[in-house]
Amino acid sequence: MPQDRHRRPKPMQKKLFTELGLSPELLKAINKVGYEEATPIQSEAIPPLMEGKDVVGQSQTGSGKTAAFAIPAIEKADPANRAPQTIVLCPTRELALQVAEEVAKLAAFKRGIRELPVYGGQSYERQFRGLKQGAQIIVGTPGRIMDHLERGTLQLDQIRMIVLDEADRMLDMGFIDDIRTILKHAPAERQTVLFSATLPRPILELIRQFTRDPVNIRIEGQALTVPAIEQVYYEVDRRAKLEVLCRIIDLHDVKYGLIFCATKAMVDDLTEHLQARGYLADKLHGDMSQALRERTMGRFRRRAVEFLIATDVAARGLDVEDIEVVFNYDLPQDAEDYVHRIGRTGRAGKSGKAITFVGGREIYRLQNIMRFTKGKIRRERPPSVEEVQEKRENVFFESLREMLDKGEYKRNDELVDRLLDLGHSPTDIASAVLHMMSAEKTRAASADVAEKGRAHRDFPREPREFSGPRDRRERRPRDDDRRAPRRERRGRDEGRHDERAAAVSHEAGMLRLVLNIGKAKHIQPGDVVGVIAGAANVPRESIGSIKLLPKLTLVDVAEEHAETVIRKLNGIRFKGHHLSVAPATDF
Ligand code: AMP
Repeated sequence: MPQDRHRRPKPMQKKLFTELGLSPELLKAINKVGYEEATPIQSEAIPPLMEGKDVVGQSQTGSGKTAAFAIPAIEKADPANRAPQTIVLCPTRELALQVAEEVAKLAAFKRGIRELPVYGGQSYERQFRGLKQGAQIIVGTPGRIMDHLERGTLQLDQIRMIVLDEADRMLDMGFIDDIRTILKHAPAERQTVLFSATLPRPILELIRQFTRDPVNIRIEGQALTVPAIEQVYYEVDRRAKLEVLCRIIDLHDVKYGLIFCATKAMVDDLTEHLQARGYLADKLHGDMSQALRERTMGRFRRRAVEFLIATDVAARGLDVEDIEVVFNYDLPQDAEDYVHRIGRTGRAGKSGKAITFVGGREIYRLQNIMRFTKGKIRRERPPSVEEVQEKRENVFFESLREMLDKGEYKRNDELVDRLLDLGHSPTDIASAVLHMMSAEKTRAASADVAEKGRAHRDFPREPREFSGPRDRRERRPRDDDRRAPRRERRGRDEGRHDERAAAVSHEAGMLRLVLNIGKAKHIQPGDVVGVIAGAANVPRESIGSIKLLPKLTLVDVAEEHAETVIRKLNGIRFKGHHLSVAPATDF
């Protein structure tokens, strides 16, 4: 098999967090966040930072650099002193908020440690209040931090660490003078940490002037052997990933796949969602006993499980051939992990495929991966509901045709004759039978969902009209014995209930639905309100925004009525059209 080889100088070092001399509170928080091992930048930056040294790190977003400086900053903060002790300077308010969020998560078990984001655009009042209450770790944009220094609402006298995050971007944005001023006014007895993707001259100058004998860290990759398999990526919003994953699986009829997630929590979550949608899915992660992992791997090897969901660490012991598709549901940390992951498909000369989801700014990380793996990751468009539905119809059509060709069905001549005698045409009779089949299926699926107490989340995932005998729900039994006890499950569901709601609607408490009819059929918003309020008997005020597209309509419906709307409207005739309704997760 043709392979690309790229050699780069220094191998990556990854350590366990327990090797980094961290406090039990930090280790507990890291475990809760779900990081299984330190990334290379964390492995290399945390020890010197804990020792009090300055660090200059050259690495990209996505390398885990935030935790690399946040962990030592939290460890070193004095909970008994509310004065600012670390200042993190970021180029944008988004980044400042992200960093503050990461600090909050990692400091969750450290009593008395507080973080405060301070950025332009937010009201001064709130920031004055926050600063007055005190916070050891201040995360902000340089301009606003300067403002507070000038107003005297922020003092630097007890600062022990200053972090310049994405220094080159701050330079591009014209913050260099503010940064210099802040560095000049901070106590000399402090640590200076600088992270930058590139090191242009002004940044080198800043390093020379303001750091003391810094430890330089540059993360390089190992020799990479990229398997010659088909690699594609989809740009998908985080909240739409599940839906897109299911559509891809259904459209391409994937039957044997490995799905990688970033954290154990994501593995748990995705496994539950896929099981609830009727796929034979199981998981592998570091918290499982060796025996349980072996058992799961065995089931996957025997193909008793179609989809195995895993973290990078857990999948290391997995030796399975012939995997059809490796999904990077979450983007891997770096090019090396990417290559390890996708190396599990297309073995032994078999064809395989690697599918990667990227959202928002992650595209830069993917470009980085492409650079190291020498490209070849093709962009594809996520399949639409209509494509999946068309595929289902084709599959159904084919199986029906085959059945008719072979004559392998029980005849019901007498019943059909009776209907013909009543004056119905053969086409009408066949259509009515098909409609009844789809309505039955919808009812069965809804009842099943309601019985499991999860009606608010797991609606039938596709319009069920014409979903033929090969529907996944029929082929794939639920694996209830592997599911969590009911009480525990309920607790977890509640958390994700909100997430799910957020995923599919622009309005809180609403769920966005998609109808398979649109402007092309001369539909007006009033018609949509009419059919929902009338046929589903749902109050008009629980219907939110309506967006008419050429062939589809998107409508927000109050969460508590969404299931009724789906159940009541699916399959009915509306404007001479068989209506199908499903949750829309990716509009
Ligand atoms: P950053 O480079 O700090 O922007 O981090 C990029 C992403 O990696 C964030 O979503 C972090 O939550 C995640 N991350 C950071 N450290 C780790 C780790 N040790 N293991 C897994 N994910 C991590």
